[in-house]
Amino acid sequence: MSYVIDTYDYLHSIPEIGWQEYKTSAFLAGELEALGFEVRKEQGSDTGLVAVLDSGNQGPVLALRADMDALEFEGEDGKYNVHACGHDAHSAMVLAAGKIIKERGLKKGKLYLVFQPAEEVLGGAMSMIEAGAVEEVEEMFGIHLRPIQEAGTGQATPGLYHGASYRIEAQIKGLNAHGARPHLGINAVDAAVQVVSAINAIRVDPLVPHSIKVTRLIAGGDTVNLIPDRASLAMDLRAQTNEVMEELISKARLAIEKSAEALGAEAQILFVGGVPGAEYDAKLEEEARLAIEEVLGQALAPIKTVGGEDFHFYSKVAGIRTAYIGLGCGLSPGLHHPEMGFDKEALKLGRDILVKLVDRRLGLEGAL
Ligand SMILES: [Zn+2]
Ligand SMILES: [Zn+2]
Repeated sequence: MSYVIDTYDYLHSIPEIGWQEYKTSAFLAGELEALGFEVRKEQGSDTGLVAVLDSGNQGPVLALRADMDALEFEGEDGKYNVHACGHDAHSAMVLAAGKIIKERGLKKGKLYLVFQPAEEVLGGAMSMIEAGAVEEVEEMFGIHLRPIQEAGTGQATPGLYHGASYRIEAQIKGLNAHGARPHLGINAVDAAVQVVSAINAIRVDPLVPHSIKVTRLIAGGDTVNLIPDRASLAMDLRAQTNEVMEELISKARLAIEKSAEALGAEAQILFVGGVPGAEYDAKLEEEARLAIEEVLGQALAPIKTVGGEDFHFYSKVAGIRTAYIGLGCGLSPGLHHPEMGFDKEALKLGRDILVKLVDRRLGLEGAL
């Protein structure tokens, strides 16, 4: 009998995709109300949820953040949802940590438990920020299960460093003409090819892992004896730091606009968006390291990971100081795999690390 594992098992049985975490959110709200938290529902969306515990004394306002959404897969019998990224595990650990903290009592400050929707579509964190759900939060800790290649059960890192991940979409406008009179037109295919070359010639600091590549190019139509006047492009950008990402974006803008212009075409950038990379607070990362050491005996070094996470809007946009724990749990074959499985005993370790963190920052009554 373990509250964290029972909670996980139940959440795992009701996987819901981003913005549709109705049953998940309702279940968590019910548990939190029963525990005596002040529960705030519909924070930024139907499912965004925040629970607050106020010690009544001065002190930091600290948040433990979990995500709630599952992933959709397509099988022989149609579409189905699976918690293949472990967000059910994150919610279970944050709720179970909250239960222990409530039972023991906070000495100072305020504790927020943040259950955000729609991490996989990278919109949930911003919805909570825009709704003011985390307005008074000063410090925030996230936690995510790690695949077996990065960490095993009994291992955890206090610094999981996600990269920045962005996408740019652009459209090129040329001029139609008869295939026999190309000089009277502006060929959008030619302009698009120039853009692709210019994008591939972008150089930034090679010491920072990064990449930029065109991932879609659509030009011309069924009629092939005329000069096409339209092309559309999309590109995927990755960088391990936000500075390098900003440089990539500004160089990509120039590459798109100027190389189209060189051929007399006009380029319009339709979309630039994505998630920033990790920027952690050194002191909070150190607190996470000490909490991990108290529970597991030792902590892993920081881990760099190429994936994106919308958690980083909390620091980049909301100005909250953050740190993020990567929890080993023997997870295989991998995150986002429909048959992803892991050692559930690790949930108890993750829960205890979160409790220790809150104990370090806000102080808890009694002993664990
Ligand atoms: Zn995921
Ligand atoms: Zn995830």
